Amino acid sequence: MRITGRVSLYGVVGYPVKHSLSPVFQNAAFSHLGIEAVYVPFEIKPGDLEDGVKGLMLSGVRGLNVTVPHKEAVLQIADRISPEAEEIGAANTLKFSDEGVEAYNTDWIGFLRALEEVHRPDGASVLVLGAGGASRAVLYALRQVSAKVFLWNRTREKADRLAERFGARVVDAPEEALGEVDVVVNTTSVGLREDDPPPVNASLLKKDQLVVDLIYKETALLRAARERGCRVQNGFPMLVYQGAESFRIWTGCEPPVRVMKLSLLEFGYIPTDYSRTP
Ligand code: NAP
Repeated sequence: MRITGRVSLYGVVGYPVKHSLSPVFQNAAFSHLGIEAVYVPFEIKPGDLEDGVKGLMLSGVRGLNVTVPHKEAVLQIADRISPEAEEIGAANTLKFSDEGVEAYNTDWIGFLRALEEVHRPDGASVLVLGAGGASRAVLYALRQVSAKVFLWNRTREKADRLAERFGARVVDAPEEALGEVDVVVNTTSVGLREDDPPPVNASLLKKDQLVVDLIYKETALLRAARERGCRVQNGFPMLVYQGAESFRIWTGCEPPVRVMKLSLLEFGYIPTDYSRTP
């Protein structure tokens, strides 16, 4: 793409952020639609968030994604917060406008779009593992589709708080609910390390279940689930769909989701469109 003085700048702020795959698929989307824009990573340390974000805004950057560890703290510097970001308590998308800093959350809709590719979400029964930031977005999404939700977390009090806020039944052990659900969603960080075991007793998974792991790779949980004959989905579809919704907020254009997905094939993205179950 030719870059002229009219180029628009977008990016992702995080710490660390060099590993982010968002630049890959956001730049693919801009290029596909012929939009003269580039998307780059900005590494901003936690104590520098306000100065960093305001500095980027004053430099003419049009919009940002926000990732770990800034998703909650960024709400403090927003001039306007969308109702979803307010309720989830975190934002992953900023748009700079005449109004100042607008904060949005697209993680929840990213999760839902990804789930819809492989399972009808309305009224599904779901076991959610984990009660951190990603879990809040997942629980918000599941509430929108009236899913029946069981919630497990290593630290029980955090699960209790989220269950009260979003409506879920807390279980003391994942195995208590495994026999009752259509879908298992891992939102914990267990699986990030190669030697992490599955966070549930995988021998209890049933072959008609869908197992979703928000981590962007084939984790021990997904491997074990596949061996049990379950359908599986890793975190790539959610990553793409949350980014696609950010793209829509910034540009007002329909995001070219297929192009965005295909740009990630070399990083391990596995298309799941073939198993779409409307
Ligand atoms: P977070 O806020 O730090 O929450 C981490 C969660 O993992 C907590 O529930 C924590 O339990 C649990 N946990 C950590 N170590 C554990 C262990 N050894 N045993 C059991 N539970 C453990 O992190 P987050 O922002 O929610 O992110 C969680 C994961 O989701 C990350 O892997 C991230 O990459 C992924 N993610 C993916 C997407 C996507 O688009 N695909 C989006 C967001 C996040 P405690 O409360 O007991 O500490």
